[in-house]
Amino acid sequence: MTPLSILQETFGYDSFRGEQAAVIDNLMAGRHGLVIMPTGGGKSLCYQVPALALEGTAVVVSPLIALMQDQVAALRANGVNAACLNSSLAPAEQAEVEQGIINGELDLLYCAPERLLQERTLTLLDRARITLFAIDEAHCVSQWGHDFRPEYRELARLVQRYPDVPRLALTATADAPTRKEICEQLGIGEDQTFIGGFDRPNIRYRIAEKNQGKQQILEFIKEHPKQAGIVYCLSRAGTDSMAEWLNEQGIPALPYHAGLSSESRAFNQQRFLKEDGLVMCATVAFGMGIDKPDIRFVAHLDMPSSIEAYYQETGRAGRDGAPAEALMLYGLQDMVRRRQMLESGEASDERRLLERRKLDALLGLCEVTTCRRQTLLRYFGDELPEPCGNCDTCLAPPVTFDGTVAAQKALSAVYRTGQRFGVAHLIDVLLGKDTDKMRQFGHEQLPTFGCGEEFNKSQWSAIFRQLVAMGLLSVDISGYGGLRLGEGAREVLRGERPLQLREPPKQRSGSKVKIGRQELVSREDENLFERLRLWRKETAEELEVPPYVVFHDATLAAIAKVKPGSVDALGNVSGVGQKKLDAYGDEILSLVAQYVAA
Ligand code: ADP
Ligand code: ZN
Repeated sequence: MTPLSILQETFGYDSFRGEQAAVIDNLMAGRHGLVIMPTGGGKSLCYQVPALALEGTAVVVSPLIALMQDQVAALRANGVNAACLNSSLAPAEQAEVEQGIINGELDLLYCAPERLLQERTLTLLDRARITLFAIDEAHCVSQWGHDFRPEYRELARLVQRYPDVPRLALTATADAPTRKEICEQLGIGEDQTFIGGFDRPNIRYRIAEKNQGKQQILEFIKEHPKQAGIVYCLSRAGTDSMAEWLNEQGIPALPYHAGLSSESRAFNQQRFLKEDGLVMCATVAFGMGIDKPDIRFVAHLDMPSSIEAYYQETGRAGRDGAPAEALMLYGLQDMVRRRQMLESGEASDERRLLERRKLDALLGLCEVTTCRRQTLLRYFGDELPEPCGNCDTCLAPPVTFDGTVAAQKALSAVYRTGQRFGVAHLIDVLLGKDTDKMRQFGHEQLPTFGCGEEFNKSQWSAIFRQLVAMGLLSVDISGYGGLRLGEGAREVLRGERPLQLREPPKQRSGSKVKIGRQELVSREDENLFERLRLWRKETAEELEVPPYVVFHDATLAAIAKVKPGSVDALGNVSGVGQKKLDAYGDEILSLVAQYVAA
């Protein structure tokens, strides 16, 4: 069978996306390759389709044993002969898998690197016909990355032992040094790199000022009832308290962070993957390799560390291509905290400079008044010709105003108080507050005292935040969060540089951007969709697989829309392959027929 007919019959999709076809051709011609695509970009099919097209067994190296099972289950649901080799197998099961490899019946074998490199496994592979090695999460070979795994370095042994078997490395991490290291370690020519577009058009980006963080997150979650999502928090304690609070508010939520025992982490992760509609409150410890396709939202209660981290974390939403949303909250406190974390770390000067630039780029993204997606993609070297129409700044363009005078007042308050006070006191100065601190330092004598009454406290704090983000103010690193004049501040003070600022919110809650809800299905089709979801849930429970293994949200939504009346019509829905059509076709058609008749 050709790759295209495998895609259509087995996976139920019409056509290849982006670089998929090129990667597959390259691999089928026996050449090695490196694939860089964002999370959700469709990397798995790049090796799954050739694995089915070629005679023999493809070996997939993946770092996380817990996730292999679900990948294997998803493949089996499509009628693919796949298995994993790990310590959880009973001896009889293991013997069966081994037999399948030897007689070439197994199409795909999933395996952790340490298991693969055991002599027993290699001897087994020596006796079999291996079609290809796919090395998933290949950035784990990089010593500089944050996911470094020493076992991944050992994979270089495959190069010597199986020089003629094509190797395909896959990752979502794009930076050049990592790319180079992967190619070196795994013996892949750098000219055989395939880079997919970075855009994830189905993710709607929103970034908002944090005022009552938890409450804002709750409102956001309520826009996605009964759906799965992740809330990223900076600290372990924050993660626990967020999860607890959400449960009190009636939203089923679980915590995940490195402070939990490995059993509770594994347990929570499994529940998140298997059950419908749970919210995971997590630190960055959660996420690598989580390929649950129907995560409908990702929220950041606290600002992430960089645009890369933000992109990777938000990228976990909407892998199935259906609408998904990302909301990041940020405030001046987050900026100060991130700066302090960065400056107090033990990094070299060079590293610190790099980190500082990354943080600045992130702050720039937070404050940008034009399309967020264009800004994001530009950071990764992708140019989006038009504003996207699917981010908060496109949907509700921020109003800007001539903030030159406001900025001059703020900067001069900083300057006149000796460039060492935090934002709270500076705002008190501008508002002319009579406090002990004011009198202690004689600040009520300053010309700036009380000169800023046209704005309230939260408006001033938004102005200060923008000045920090623009680099006109810098945060003192000694730990007290004092503000100093940054580069360019003097030009503003001298009136040589006009400034456009985002209009500060009128009151505390006025900052909420009102954007219509993004629908997975239209209102009319909602009932049928819910009915199909219920059927999916029951079916998944019976089969003991996660619901998405039965059908993705996007597929159910398409069925609800099309309301197929025949096997052929159902088979034409994207995501319905032959195996699933045989297995569930009758049940689905009768559900749809009942609904249409009612
Ligand atoms: P990645 O591993 O790059 O994060 P996946 O391989 O999990 O991404 O694919 C993401 C989603 O996109 C999956 O739900 C997959 O079924 C779907 N997908 C991949 N390729 C196609 C395609 N050509 N047409 C339709 N859907 C696709
Ligand atoms: Zn946009």
